[in-house]
Amino acid sequence: MDWFESHAQKHKKIVEKLQSKEYTKEQIIDYFDFENMKKHEVDFCPLYKENKKCHDMKSLNCYMCACPNFRFSDDGISKYNEQVILSECDINNGKKFSGGGFIHQDCSSCTVPHHRAYILKNFSYDWREMMSECKIK
Ligand code: SF4
Repeated sequence: MDWFESHAQKHKKIVEKLQSKEYTKEQIIDYFDFENMKKHEVDFCPLYKENKKCHDMKSLNCYMCACPNFRFSDDGISKYNEQVILSECDINNGKKFSGGGFIHQDCSSCTVPHHRAYILKNFSYDWREMMSECKIK
């Protein structure tokens, strides 16, 4: 939850900066390309300082990080075999991993939200709107 709130604020600040410079939707998406972001928005993601992508993709876009299909609840979504499910995928992509009585979504094999075409199709200037289904209450 802490990450979610902090990331929402960082995303909003960058989008507002670009809008004030009259960037188009397409230019904003291009700005969020990993290669550009690591140079100009180093505090947006801890991986930028290490020049490390979260997914092995030639062109990785960070605009929809985390992902509109991600579902989570710090209190647990449901239970499976006495383990608490903390996160899952709404389109059933990726894998799961478990430990310490918890099950998490493993998105490491899924690149869906990091493709430019997907972002363009599901675009909003408002990160919270794009992620509106993520938090399970
Ligand atoms: S998409 Fe990956 S590299 Fe980009 S901000 Fe998110 S975690 Fe960092």
